[in-house]
Amino acid sequence: MKKANENKLPSWNEAIKVNFRGLKLLFSHCGPAVISRLVFAAWKALSPYVTVWLSARLIDAIAFGKDPATLIRLAILTLASVFAAELVSALLEKWKNTENALRWHSLRHMYHQKFGAMDFPDADDPAVREKYTAIQNFMWGGNWGMNRLLNNTEKMISSFCSLFGGIALSVTLFTQTVPESGGKLTLLNNPVVVIAVILAMIGITYFAPRLSSRADSCWSRLANKHLSANKLFSYFGWDLFEDEHAQEMRIYSQEKFAEGYQKNVKFGLFCSKGELARISWRERGLLMAAGSALGVVFTGLSYVFVCLKALGGAFGVGMVTQYVGAISKLSGSVSGLVSSIGEMRNNAPFIENSLEFMSIPNKMYRGTLTVEKRRDRNYEIEFRNVSFKYPGSDAYALKNVSMKFRVGSRLAIVGQNGSGKSTFIKLLCRLYDPTEGEILLNGIDIRKYDYANYMSVFSVVFQDFRLLAFKLGENVGGCRDYDREKVLDSLEKAGFSERLATLPDGLDTWLYKNFEDGVNLSGGEAQKLAIARALYKNAPFIILDEPTAALDPMAEAEIYSRFNDISGDRTAIYISHRLSSTRFCDEIAVFHAGEIVQQGTHAGLLADEAGQYARLWNSQAQYYTES
Ligand code: ADP
Ligand code: MG
Repeated sequence: MKKANENKLPSWNEAIKVNFRGLKLLFSHCGPAVISRLVFAAWKALSPYVTVWLSARLIDAIAFGKDPATLIRLAILTLASVFAAELVSALLEKWKNTENALRWHSLRHMYHQKFGAMDFPDADDPAVREKYTAIQNFMWGGNWGMNRLLNNTEKMISSFCSLFGGIALSVTLFTQTVPESGGKLTLLNNPVVVIAVILAMIGITYFAPRLSSRADSCWSRLANKHLSANKLFSYFGWDLFEDEHAQEMRIYSQEKFAEGYQKNVKFGLFCSKGELARISWRERGLLMAAGSALGVVFTGLSYVFVCLKALGGAFGVGMVTQYVGAISKLSGSVSGLVSSIGEMRNNAPFIENSLEFMSIPNKMYRGTLTVEKRRDRNYEIEFRNVSFKYPGSDAYALKNVSMKFRVGSRLAIVGQNGSGKSTFIKLLCRLYDPTEGEILLNGIDIRKYDYANYMSVFSVVFQDFRLLAFKLGENVGGCRDYDREKVLDSLEKAGFSERLATLPDGLDTWLYKNFEDGVNLSGGEAQKLAIARALYKNAPFIILDEPTAALDPMAEAEIYSRFNDISGDRTAIYISHRLSSTRFCDEIAVFHAGEIVQQGTHAGLLADEAGQYARLWNSQAQYYTES
């Protein structure tokens, strides 16, 4: 991001290094796709020269009146080699297409894998998400980044092979001399003329693509505006038309926002009066036109040179077709090569984005111990002087928290919104590490356990849980080939059976509308599914963070007491800001402003009339008279 933000192109040296590192990354994630494309490109560039060469021989043979047997032999050879070349092309293309059909997918997969593997605080960091959004946006808008790197490398290899073949077939153009009978045309034999023509050709093929590459460099210079404009585009183009916006869109005519923002300097890059349109008319347009014009001059110059030499008698008609064929390919290949080199530099900041994202290091310590599998499920958790600040925040979300609890007990964590309850759980589950202090499981710092193994100890129904737009049973089972009996049992325990009976496809009912015409669940129903999912995992710890606003106090209390019945011998942790939901717990910890201010049983805590618990209880009492 840094480079793209500065809107300055990197040095050549830097650009080449970045391109190489990018290629290495591509090779390691989709090697066969990359190799098949490069091999195909090389073959496609080289194979036409066989035809050019053989055709020239054939024309010469006709022109010089060779015997029919030689002619037939040459004709058959030409046809056979064209046939063979096309056959190989077709096979290589098939290979390339098959390997590349999933390339987009593999690129996305590469980023997603990285997301999954990075430390949670990084995955949750807005700056990291922004980096990923930038990668996506530049990929969709203008194909910048890794995909262009592959296209460009392909172009470079193809141009290089084509250049090589072109030189091989046209080098004699400069060495064959016009005989004395050519009169004034013998002037073309003069080394000064030959060198001048070669220099002119090199000059043009060098400058023409540089002009178009300069024209294209506006994309890197405008990278920031491009990103903003693209974000706006995808926001108005897709996000805003999703279900959740549809109602307000109509009531408040929100589509008008789009027009307003399109005219904005920061976001309006693509509109008809935007900066891109302006430079397309001026600088960029002129550069592109000049580049194309120079290309035509090259072709004209070389044709004149070939024709004049042929006229002077330096070579016959067969060679004319060979030279014309070779030179037209040559000019294309030199400009291709130079422009792909220019593109290496223009694309470098975008590749760098991907490289930076992919090389975010894992900083959280991950130990190797496995959590002891105890039949008696006798685990003890201890928080020892734990303090925590979220990354980038100066405020303590938890301050010097110390507490102990053992498995089998029912722990409740209560406190007002923002008092640190969810943060406590996130630390317990090692989504974040404490800023100070330590958390111990059976006396051992949880950092010393193997990460995945430690994760397997917890089932959590997060406050902001999400279900997937797949089949209901798959959501609960967590995979496609789940244990149906166990899922049904978990759903029953979570209180979802009645609703399940109303669904004609049962466990195979799709959720939401992303893929199939599935069901939309109410907040409470979704909560039950999330609980069933937690039960299915059958981990020793089961944690229920307070349900979102979707549930009223009565429904919440019902879910909690049901949860209590079904959690069996597991350690259950209940979190709520509604005290009535959790009063059945053996132990209640009261959080206030990131600290544990009280701890005890419901009755004991209520007895302390001046305490935070009693204060909260009294202020909430009006809601619970029914229960
Ligand atoms: P509770 O669950 O008790 O409502 P939280 O644990 O969610 O409270 O939040 C505790 C404090 O940490 C709050 O001040 C909240 O604003 C802050 N906080 C929560 N999540 C983040 C985050 N991802 N980044 C920064 N601050 C956060
Ligand atoms: Mg919370």
